[in-house]
Amino acid sequence: MSNSPLATYTRLSPNRTSPRNHAIDTITIHCTGGQGTAKQILDMAHFNTYDPKNGSSCNYAVGKDGSIGLGVDEGDRSWCSSNGANDHRAITIEVSSESISPYKVTEKALAALIDLLVDICQRNGIKRLVWSESKADRVNHRGGCNMTCHRDFAAKACPGDYLYALEGDIAKSVNKRLNGQTIEEGEIVTYDQWKAFMGQYRAELRKSDGGDWSKEAREWAVNAGIVTGSGEVNGLPVYMWEDLSTREQLITVLYRFAKAIGQA
Ligand SMILES: [Zn+2]
Repeated sequence: MSNSPLATYTRLSPNRTSPRNHAIDTITIHCTGGQGTAKQILDMAHFNTYDPKNGSSCNYAVGKDGSIGLGVDEGDRSWCSSNGANDHRAITIEVSSESISPYKVTEKALAALIDLLVDICQRNGIKRLVWSESKADRVNHRGGCNMTCHRDFAAKACPGDYLYALEGDIAKSVNKRLNGQTIEEGEIVTYDQWKAFMGQYRAELRKSDGGDWSKEAREWAVNAGIVTGSGEVNGLPVYMWEDLSTREQLITVLYRFAKAIGQA
C-alpha cells in the first residue's frame, strides 16, 4: 500500500493499529479546531503521545497553507473518528480550521484537500466520492455513499458546519477531476461524452466474468464453441458476458449453434 506523494512532511503517530483490517473505501474529513500547517498539526502532543485509551491520530493533515502531511501510513488504521470499524476502512484527514464554529478553513487548505482526495481515490481504486446529507446513508454506506463524518460516531461538531456544508461540493470537484466524465444531474450529455461513457463502461465489462447464476451456461457455451471471446486478459479470453450483444454477434452465436446440431 502506498502513501500520497503530495505529503511533504511525515511524522508517524504511535497511536495506530497496524495493519488496517479493511480495504480503503471511505473518506472521513475532520477539522482541527485551530489553524496550523500540516507540520504543526502532526507535531501536536496528542498525536505523538502513545495512549491506547485516549490517544488520537490521522492518516493525513492538511495545513492552512495547503501543506499536506502524513501521520499514519495508509496501510494502518488511524485513531481519528471515534469508531474503529470506520477508521479501518477510511482515510482520515485533519484539515486546519478556525477554532470556533463553523470552523472555517482557508481556500488553500480546501484546494489541497481536493488534490489529496483525488490522489487517494486514484491510488486506492475509488472511482468516485459519494456524499449524502443522511447520516443513515453515510454510516451504512447506502447507495455507494463513501464519505463519513466524525459527528456520525460521536457527539462532536467535527468536521464543523463549514466543511460539512461543502462535502457534496468537495465530492463533485473530486469526481470531475477523477475522470472528467462525470454527469451531473440535469446536465446535457453530448454525443462525444456519451461515446466516452460507453467506452469506459465497456472497458469495465471486459474485466467482468458474469454472475454466478449464469456460470453453468457460460461454461457450456465456451466448451461447445458457441461463444469464443476475444483478446486476452491474464492469459484468458475476454468474454464481456455482461455487455449487450450486437445483431452481428447474435447471428454468429446462432450460426455456431446451428452448425453444432447439424442445421447449418
Ligand atoms: Zn474529528
